[in-house]
Amino acid sequence: MSKDTTVHIDSDTILFGVMGDPIRHSKSPHMHNRALRAKGVNGVYTALHIKPEALRDAIAGVRAMGFRGVNVTIPHKVNVMPLLDEIDEDARLIGAVNTIVNDNGKLTGYNTDGIGYVRSLKEEAEPNIAGKRILVIGAGGAARGIVYALAKEKPDGIWIANRTAEKARELAADFQAFGPLAGIGMDDIGSLHGEIDIVINTTSVGMHPHVDAISLDPDWLRPDMTVSDLIYNPLRTKLLNEAERRGCRIHGGLGMFIYQGAYAFEYWTGLPAPIETMRGALLE
Ligand code: NAP
Repeated sequence: MSKDTTVHIDSDTILFGVMGDPIRHSKSPHMHNRALRAKGVNGVYTALHIKPEALRDAIAGVRAMGFRGVNVTIPHKVNVMPLLDEIDEDARLIGAVNTIVNDNGKLTGYNTDGIGYVRSLKEEAEPNIAGKRILVIGAGGAARGIVYALAKEKPDGIWIANRTAEKARELAADFQAFGPLAGIGMDDIGSLHGEIDIVINTTSVGMHPHVDAISLDPDWLRPDMTVSDLIYNPLRTKLLNEAERRGCRIHGGLGMFIYQGAYAFEYWTGLPAPIETMRGALLE
């Protein structure tokens, strides 16, 4: 891996960026610029503060200025879809785009969040998802991509539990063609005791500054479970600390962020993403 950290910007520099509102907190520029340099790509990745009313012009700008790729984040992941030329099948089914590839003015939208999460889970904690019984807590935007990507790994079953049970049932119904899925209320989790191999928190419960909050009773956990949390601020949530104390294998949310970016990097450059360089950039 190249150790060159010099930034070369010239008339051949390839443009990348992330569009969001707000965007100044984003760690993507730091992670992607480090990755571009590590792989010797003459490119630069910047944060683009795009208000909702400017999204159409911003996407026209991607074409006009020849950006090779952009990420889109909150609040644009759904509204950007009609502005693109093509939507990848997975992104269409999930109903959200987080990565755009520009092939000579033709913009294609992808969703790398769900597949990024699953790649992280497999690389970092649970290599075999096939045949496993999975409890997903939460049924928001992040859960959607994750449930879809998990279902494709052929687990034995996925139970989605949410504070608003109706949303869990809707999510399960949307993807039932891809695997055995059920939507339940939080009160129904008790009946799954002893049945679950992998627990995944996709809610914002436990995120900074509410670090003492937890989305399920930790006494329900068993030592042979893998417990995963999408939250990466803090890197270790109360749920993960409690799970570790009970002997569970734990998996935090930083890997999802790295691997969703890794897929985007690979789509744009055709090069394998430098995962450890990206992780190091974020941990700094
Ligand atoms: P979202 O669409 O707003 O969904 C939030 C989910 O959390 C819903 O299921 C909601 O339940 C539940 N929830 C919120 N507050 C709750 C509370 N007090 N008690 C119980 N349930 C509660 O958000 P999202 O985009 O899916 O993001 C969810 C989390 O994932 C965030 O913490 C985010 O930082 C994290 N995330 C991480 C990554 C990564 O790269 N690691 C990527 C995306 C998201 P209701 O439906 O009942 O409201």
